[in-house]
Amino acid sequence: MKTFAIATLGCKVNTFESESYIESLSESGYQQVDFKESADIYIINTCSVTNTAASKSRQKIHQAIRQNSHAMICVVGCYVQTNQNELNEIERIDLLIGAKHKSKLVEYIHQGYGDVDINDQRDMSFESLPLKHFSHQTRAFLKIQDGCDQFCSYCIIPFARGNERSALSDDLIDMAKSLVGSGHKEIVLSGIHIGRYGKDGNDDLTYLLKRLVDEVDGLLRIRLSSIEITEITEQLLDLMASSEKIVRHLHIPVQSGCDSVLKRMNRPYTSGEFYDRIQAIRHRFEMISISTDIIVGFVGESEEEFQTTAKFADKCRFSFMHIFPYSMRVNTAAAQLIGHLDTNTKKSRAAQLILKSNQMKIRYDMQFVNKEVSVLFESYQNGIAIGHTGEYVLVNVISDESLNNQCHRVWITHHKQGRNYGVLVKKAVET
Ligand code: SF4
Repeated sequence: MKTFAIATLGCKVNTFESESYIESLSESGYQQVDFKESADIYIINTCSVTNTAASKSRQKIHQAIRQNSHAMICVVGCYVQTNQNELNEIERIDLLIGAKHKSKLVEYIHQGYGDVDINDQRDMSFESLPLKHFSHQTRAFLKIQDGCDQFCSYCIIPFARGNERSALSDDLIDMAKSLVGSGHKEIVLSGIHIGRYGKDGNDDLTYLLKRLVDEVDGLLRIRLSSIEITEITEQLLDLMASSEKIVRHLHIPVQSGCDSVLKRMNRPYTSGEFYDRIQAIRHRFEMISISTDIIVGFVGESEEEFQTTAKFADKCRFSFMHIFPYSMRVNTAAAQLIGHLDTNTKKSRAAQLILKSNQMKIRYDMQFVNKEVSVLFESYQNGIAIGHTGEYVLVNVISDESLNNQCHRVWITHHKQGRNYGVLVKKAVET
């Protein structure tokens, strides 16, 4: 039996795609081994969103070549799409697939070659990749959309992933039913720009969510991976209000809290518009978790502009923030701007906001002490059952047995060292 190993870099969409490759190859008779072992076939599912991600993608390719000089080396994804010339120089690579033809990976592996086509990436249709089972027992990702047409000035993704395109809702409902049928209780709707789901057809995100709520029996939770503030509609909030299945957590990337920086970033809102909208969301859902992404050290970001962002983050009371030092990507509009900052300034600003985010997370999580919450348990270690609330707050419960993949009501008793602790208050809602 031939063996394969896969390394996945980057986002949830890449993770979903890799899971689909693993499932298809396993069903075709290949056996998966760890990436550190010698394999007949190596797949490197790459990322190029930052310099670090691109460099890690290259390292994985060289690691595979070193481990078995006779192996078939397949390189897939964003780094191929954006840096094909560089990869063409590595002779040992057998197969390159960019944004297109990902659904043909297994076929190409069978035949030993495939056609690389990185052109016309603004005219692609959605390529469905099947998935019935996900490696995380409780939570499965479901790719509903690909590509982006927004072209924020710092972002390589529209070049790497191509135009916006969406899966058919019928296909997604079938896939969600299969995932729930194989035991998953939570589905994370994933994509590059999921608020634009269905804009290339007749559906929209609210329609898809409603169908998932109504038609997928046994699905306890639906989570959105990330959504733009301009795409959170009243219809979406109405649906959230009508269904407990859609969790009270929205990850809304703000990127900067300073209007002049937002303008240079080509983001389609002002800080005031962002703030007013999250206040309106909080008005409807009092304890909702609103988390965000912020890029620090963007081109020309002055100390004053950075401090404006830091103050804005405080004002918004995010539950946590993902902080990214700006990474210059060739071909993007921001790469041409004047005033790129040095690495130390970017690192120092990132450290300041990471500290702030850690404090925010503790403050947010502590609000649940002396409250009853619903916890979906995911792991069991040393007599402690560990799970998350819908708001994505981590909860520990001392337990004689594993509660994995069960949802229980829990009374939160206290917060200690970054974790909420609690006790079960009644039998499983659903097991
Ligand atoms: S919305 Fe902006 S940041 Fe997000 S993928 Fe599109 S271009 Fe990149």
